[in-house]
Amino acid sequence: MIERIKVSMNMKKKIYDIGGNSYMEFSDIINQLYKFPQAKAKVANVARTIENLVWNDHEVTNAYYDCLTGEIELELNENEYKICPSCGKGYSTYSAISRLDNKTEICPDCGTVEALNEFYKNQK
Ligand SMILES: [Zn+2]
Repeated sequence: MIERIKVSMNMKKKIYDIGGNSYMEFSDIINQLYKFPQAKAKVANVARTIENLVWNDHEVTNAYYDCLTGEIELELNENEYKICPSCGKGYSTYSAISRLDNKTEICPDCGTVEALNEFYKNQK
């Protein structure tokens, strides 16, 4: 899944890979991205980086800036980024259904823990 965002910047090089190491040059680009209403941080009060950005409820996996077109290209995880209500961690994989109420969506790790707890309870 690819999304393009038009921004206006004055940069020297043509194409920047803004994933991975966040150099000082990229901080201006990243700050522009975080101004959009589609942008959310995975963790609040953490430096604005590409790794910490969720765009339209999808995790950013790669980002490039093309100064010829003035566009940032975001590669997004296909799956929706969700916060597990049980452990509070973010995840982009498929949800598990909580055994406590049979409807709450939780992360796969918590799903495994609940299943194991039930298994050991039945062993007694
Ligand atoms: Zn969880």
